[in-house]
Amino acid sequence: MWDMPMFLLHATRNWAKELLDINLITLSFQDPHLERSFRASYGRRFHAQSLLAMGLALLLFCFFGVLDWLLYPELVQQLWAIRYVFACLPLMAILLLLSGRYYWRYGQPLMALALLVGNLAVVAMTVIIPAEMNDVYVAGLMLIALYGYTVARLRFVWAAAITWTGLLAYNLANLWWGDASRWDLIAGNFFCVSTNIMGMVAGYTMEYDSRRGFLLQQQLRRERQRLGILNRELQDANQRLEEQTLTDELTGLANRRRFFGRLQEEWRRALRQKENLALVMIDVDHFKAVNDRFGHQAGDQCLRQLARVLQEHGRRAGEMVARLGGEEFALLLPGCGAEHACEIAEDLRESIARLDISLPHSPGSVVVHPTVSCGVASLVPDDYHAPEYLLFLADQALYAAKEAGRNRVACSARKAVEMEELA
Ligand code: GH3
Ligand code: MG
Ligand code: MG
Repeated sequence: MWDMPMFLLHATRNWAKELLDINLITLSFQDPHLERSFRASYGRRFHAQSLLAMGLALLLFCFFGVLDWLLYPELVQQLWAIRYVFACLPLMAILLLLSGRYYWRYGQPLMALALLVGNLAVVAMTVIIPAEMNDVYVAGLMLIALYGYTVARLRFVWAAAITWTGLLAYNLANLWWGDASRWDLIAGNFFCVSTNIMGMVAGYTMEYDSRRGFLLQQQLRRERQRLGILNRELQDANQRLEEQTLTDELTGLANRRRFFGRLQEEWRRALRQKENLALVMIDVDHFKAVNDRFGHQAGDQCLRQLARVLQEHGRRAGEMVARLGGEEFALLLPGCGAEHACEIAEDLRESIARLDISLPHSPGSVVVHPTVSCGVASLVPDDYHAPEYLLFLADQALYAAKEAGRNRVACSARKAVEMEELA
């Protein structure tokens, strides 16, 4: 029940809010920068329409010369002199200027000048013709006012200023030089003033709507830009989030999830291309003791440094070093046979064995020399096994390395087992 009054209240409030930023008479925006960009956009929007309307008005104005000749053959020379020499020639010059680059700078004043020329020409004709035919040319004044307020796309202030000036000129000229009676003039004014008032309402609302449309467009553009920025931020945040879910927080290496994704991918690729896929499982030896002696934080620092060294050994395309959990890491080596994978693992084990890791320890720091055990497996994937099989084999090899005394590399004995099974 209250919907309608509330709606009206909102509409009025919005209207009033918009009006606060606008000059009520000239309709200009208070903000000069906004006003400049509105005028530029208004000019662009009505460029073709203004020129076409003016060309058409000029043609019609010339065409009315026929009426001069039909109604007053005896006065036609004077009427045509006013119409064609004093009006059409300047109007054509103005149209020529407007069709060039002057439109963009002086469009509105030039169009206003054209309106004034047309007005004054008709006013001059009302003085020449006999009083009883005065209303025929007053109708001409009304037509010109109609053109000025609507199709010309003159701004409201220009159209109003020129048409009222034209009306003033009509009155003064006819009072001083014309032979029209007072009643003729009063009747002419009734029509012209009414046309001007109607024209003002039309011109005012048209320009007001144009300005509102312009503001809405600006707002829309701003909103679109804001949305674009938000969208980009959202995409970045999503990317960061996805990155976080795939990265190990402590070491910055790929985590278990990313590793398993890549293992599946490389498994499928190796299956298609019938190539080897190798995996090295790496486990830090006696790491619990490091934690127990120097603390968990020192252990973390040790893991970070080990991760940095491991990363050096898995930089080629397709290769990946990951932390599977705790002090256990994996190195995935696509296209790598067992022998080569064992060499890489050996290389890696040696560079870690040579490492001196200094850990903060009260009162100073201590140096530890961690070692790792590696289990290596390499195979050409087939349709009968899943990627987890490679993991299983590498894990078995790692177990063997630990059993054999740690700080060593063991290769998967799969081939030997299979040979035994075949035998
Ligand atoms: P082994 O040579 O048999 O592998 O001995 P180990 O002590 O390394 O093996 P174990 O599995 O018994 O112990 C692993 C230790 O790794 C237990 C835990 O204290 C430590 N650890 C696991 N995750 C983290 C971690 O994120 N930070 C630290 N500082 N230590 C961890
Ligand atoms: Mg261990
Ligand atoms: Mg372990």
